Amino acid sequence: MADLQQRIQKIEQDIQMTCEQIGRNRSEITVVAVTKEISAARTSAVLEAGIEQLGENRPEVLLGKQEIIQSGAIWHFIGNVQSRKVKDIINQIDFLHSVDRMSLVKEIQKRAKQTVDCFVQVNVSGEASKSGVTPSELEGFIEEVVAYDKVRVIGLMTMAPFTDDKDVIRTVFRSLRDLRDTIAAKKLPYAPCNQLSMGMSNDFIIAIEEGATHVRIGTALVGAESEGDG
Ligand SMILES: *Cc1c(COP(=O)(O)O)cnc(C)c1O
Repeated sequence: MADLQQRIQKIEQDIQMTCEQIGRNRSEITVVAVTKEISAARTSAVLEAGIEQLGENRPEVLLGKQEIIQSGAIWHFIGNVQSRKVKDIINQIDFLHSVDRMSLVKEIQKRAKQTVDCFVQVNVSGEASKSGVTPSELEGFIEEVVAYDKVRVIGLMTMAPFTDDKDVIRTVFRSLRDLRDTIAAKKLPYAPCNQLSMGMSNDFIIAIEEGATHVRIGTALVGAESEGDG
């Protein structure tokens, strides 16, 4: 798995260089390795290479990998969750990045044995294809969560639009940060909201520059199943 080590090193260098340039502390940033497109065997290799935060987006794949990978991983669920699947995964994960509707909050309340650390997904770019609460709905949405003590809003999450225009991407990330700051300033005990999950393989540097605390990196970090000696 020499290719994995190289990828991990490259990403780590990029992150450290960005942090130095803008004066952020590297320890503020959590790298979630998105393993959704690689096998359980290669996912195990990612863990062995020293990465413990893993992101998956399909319940069946998550559960299948957890049967094979017994310990050592911190699991982030980053995909859309159908309400009927909540019961299967909610007690199996450490973080949920994709709370996008009140019916999901209600289902989590019903099924979770403990409070779940969640990010509210915000559709900042407004694309019809993206899920998430709209920026204008966000404050009201988070106020409603007070009634559901199994959901703790630790931050906001977004996906940048599919474009090469770095300014557009940066504007989206900056908007999420502003929204985060607005919510965090309220100091709600159930919604500390001081985290920012944004940035993927193509835009994680911009995301870190704009304040990301969690970057979700797939292909650039773990490669693809068919690649390398994995
Ligand atoms: C797939 C995925 C990623 C990682 O994408 P890459 O471009 O492979 O880095 C990050 N976040 C979410 C929500 C995803 O679905």
